[in-house]
Amino acid sequence: MRYYVLDRGDDLSVELTEQFHKLAGEQGFELDAKSPEIVVSIGGDGTMLHAFHTFIDRIPSIAFVGIHTGHLGFYADWKADEIPELISLMSGQGGPGTPKPRIVNYPLIEVEITKKSGKASYICLNEFTLKSVDGTIVAQVDINDRLFEMFRGDGICVSTPSGSTAYNKSLGGAMVHPSIEALQLSEIASINNRVYRTMGSSLVLPKHHHCDIYSRKEQNLLITIDHINLHMNDLVSVRCHVARQKISFVRYRPFPFWERVRNAFLD
Ligand code: NAD
Repeated sequence: MRYYVLDRGDDLSVELTEQFHKLAGEQGFELDAKSPEIVVSIGGDGTMLHAFHTFIDRIPSIAFVGIHTGHLGFYADWKADEIPELISLMSGQGGPGTPKPRIVNYPLIEVEITKKSGKASYICLNEFTLKSVDGTIVAQVDINDRLFEMFRGDGICVSTPSGSTAYNKSLGGAMVHPSIEALQLSEIASINNRVYRTMGSSLVLPKHHHCDIYSRKEQNLLITIDHINLHMNDLVSVRCHVARQKISFVRYRPFPFWERVRNAFLD
């Protein structure tokens, strides 16, 4: 098995990475930074976002596994003291009655950004946001090439189903099960009064729909793609749709989405 480990860089994560390499070496796993089959993230959800973007060009051929060093993460199933168990399951030595590993695929969103100076396309695991740097943003939102609303406020968040429990949740958006291929558009502090009006509710768009966000004034904007920040002052538009590719996670034991949600927010 060809694998790679990406850690958060703190003492505990680095120590766990060394432990992982040692145990993986004993099982004959091959460390491969270029074309791994499995990428292990050790840290938190943010580390998984880093791992995802590090291997963005190889997403279809990689399966991710997350080990968390603090509280349970959304993208991390394994605790720090469970690395020996994880390695034995990865090497197929789980013993009788061990469930077979499953690959689960989560939808992603593709964001095509058009600036006066050129075009670029990004894939998000959690979300894309468009935010103001110095004042209210003015943006026209079209759905499937038809005008939907003129937005004024702090910004707009477009999240994936697995990202719906992150920033989107803080904005009052719905949590969407990752088996639903959709994107969710949520408002960040929209202005609503007799003059300006937006829908106010989050919108969930299916796979075959798209939305376009047009910048409608000269404005300094902050665009975020997961943890990545991009400053732009010449944005023309952003098209968002569910991406064709998906991210794959290997599940060596079941950990249903709603259990993660309960664990993270209620327990
Ligand atoms: P960070 O370390 O500040 O992480 C923020 C928190 O988001 C962490 O507690 C992390 O565990 C959690 N998180 C990340 N992905 C999640 C997911 N899919 N479901 C539930 N919780 C999740 O920042 P970072 O590590 O650079 O992560 C960037 C992410 O932070 C962004 O993708 C965004 O979702 C999130 N964020 C949230 C807010 C907010 O809730 N107000 C604001 C900015 C960014």
